[in-house]
Amino acid sequence: MSAVQCRNFIGGEWTGARSGRTYERENPAELAEVVATAPDSEAADVADAVGYVAAGYHEWAATAPETRADVLIRAADIIAARADDLAVELVREEGKTLAEARMETRRTPQNLRLYAGEALRLYGESVTDAAGSMVLTVRKPVGVVAAITPWNFPLNIPSRKLGPALAAGNGVVFKPSELTPVLGQRLVEALLEAGVPAGALALVHGHAEVGRALVSDPGVSAVTFTGSTAVGEQIHASTKPWVRSQLEMGGKNAIVVWEDADLDRAAAIVAKGAFGLSGQACTGTSRVVVHESIANGLLDRVMELARATSIGNGMASGVTMGPLASAAQAQKYEDYLKVGCDEAHLETPTHGCAPAGGHFVRPAIFSDVRSKSRLAQEEVFSPILAFLPVTSFDEAIDVVNDSAYGLSAGIVTRGLDTALRFANEVEAGVVKVNQPTTGVAMNAPFGGMKKSSTQTFKEQAGATMMQFYTHEKTAYFTA
Ligand code: NAD
Repeated sequence: MSAVQCRNFIGGEWTGARSGRTYERENPAELAEVVATAPDSEAADVADAVGYVAAGYHEWAATAPETRADVLIRAADIIAARADDLAVELVREEGKTLAEARMETRRTPQNLRLYAGEALRLYGESVTDAAGSMVLTVRKPVGVVAAITPWNFPLNIPSRKLGPALAAGNGVVFKPSELTPVLGQRLVEALLEAGVPAGALALVHGHAEVGRALVSDPGVSAVTFTGSTAVGEQIHASTKPWVRSQLEMGGKNAIVVWEDADLDRAAAIVAKGAFGLSGQACTGTSRVVVHESIANGLLDRVMELARATSIGNGMASGVTMGPLASAAQAQKYEDYLKVGCDEAHLETPTHGCAPAGGHFVRPAIFSDVRSKSRLAQEEVFSPILAFLPVTSFDEAIDVVNDSAYGLSAGIVTRGLDTALRFANEVEAGVVKVNQPTTGVAMNAPFGGMKKSSTQTFKEQAGATMMQFYTHEKTAYFTA
C-alpha cells in the first residue's frame, strides 16, 4: 500500500504547512514501510487555522440544532460505510490488531450518533421571578475549541471531542497526534463530507509545537485534551483563566484480586486489562493487588496467558498483540524493564522471542513489587504488569490509592460487601467489578480523579459533558 499524503485543512483548503516541511510516519509493525507523510506545521499554521475558524464558525453556530444533528449522523454513516478500510489503516498506522481496530471503527460512528442527539438536548432552565418578569438560562457555544489528542485511539478519542463540540455549534481546530495523522484526517474528511462548513473546522498536523501554539492562541475559548499528565500540566500552566480546559490524562490502574475470587476468571480479567492493546490503554491494568494466600495461583495463571499471547503484525490472523506504537514507546518499555529488574523479580522471559522488524515486545510480569517503587508508581503504558501482595482488605485499598493517578480501578471478588466497599473507598473515576480496568460504555460519563484529570467536566457522556462545550447565559425579561 502506498503512503497517505496527509494535508492540513485550513480556511476551506487542503494545504501543506506554510514552511513546506513534512514528516513521515512508519508502520510500527514494518518499520521500513512509510504509511503517511504529513505537514510538520508550526505556530504560523495554527494562527491561520484559529483565525479562519474564529471568523467562520458563526454560520455553523446559527444552524438549527436538528441540522447539526443530521450532519453528525451523516458523518457517522460515512465512517460506518468505510469501517473496514479505516480498520486496516488503523492497524498500519498505530499497530493495533485488526480485531482491536474494528472495535474502534465501530465505536466512532456510535459516538457521533450519541452527540447528534445531544445537539437536540441543549436545554436551559427557567427561574421563578416576580410576576411580570421572567428569568431564563440558555446555552450557547463557547466559540473556538482546540482539540488535542493522543495516538492510542486516533479515531475514537477525537470523535468524543469533535462530536460534542460541533453538536453545540462551536468551531473546532483539531490537532491529532503526530503518530496518527491518517486517522485524524479521516475523521475530518467524513465531517466535511457530511456537511460541516469549512469555516467551522480546521485540521493542523504536527508535533508538540502545534499543540503549544494552539493552547495559547487568544482566539481559542476552550481546550479539550487527552494525553499524558506531563503535557496536561504544561497546557494547564499556559492557558488563561478564562479559557476552560478539560484535560484527561495518564493512569496507573490497579486491579484487586480478592481471596474469594475464581482464579481462572480473575487471571483472564487481569490479562485482558494488562496485555490488550499491547498495554497501551489509559485504563490498562498495570498493578495487580492480590491477597497473598492466592498470589502464586494467580501469578501462574496470568503467566500462562502471557505466554499464550501471539505477537506480530496486527493484520496477520491469530495475532493477539500488535507492536508498541513508536520507538519512544519501545524505549520506555526497555527502560522500565531495567527499573523493574532493579526493584523486583521478573517472572517472564522478555528477550529473544518477540518478532523482529517492528516495535514488538513481550508481556513482562514482575512479582514482589513494593508500592513505593517506581514500577508501582509511574505510568509505563506498555504490557508490563506489577504484582503487589497484600494481607488485608484495608491494605489492598491503601495500595490501590497509593498513587498520584486515579483513572480506573477494578476488583475481582464474589462478595457483594467487598465490591461495595471497594467502589466506595477507591480513588478512581472509573470503578470496575469483575471486569478488566479497560473498556468503558460509550454512553457513560468518563474521566479520572487526582492527576488523571482536571475533574471539571466529565467526557464522553452524562450531565456535565455538554456543559464543557457551552456557556450558560442568564437572561432577564420584563415586558
Ligand atoms: P502526549 O501527552 O505525549 O501527547 C498528546 C497530544 O498532545 C499529542 O497530540 C501531542 O502532539 C500533543 N502535545 C505534546 N506536547 C504538547 C504541549 N506542550 N502542548 C500542547 N500539546 C502537546 O500523549 P501520547 O503519548 O500521545 O498519549 C499517551 C498518553 O495519553 C498516556 O499518558 C495515556 O495515559 C494518555 N491517555 C489518556 C486517556 C484518558 O482518557 N485519560 C486516554 C488515552 C490516552
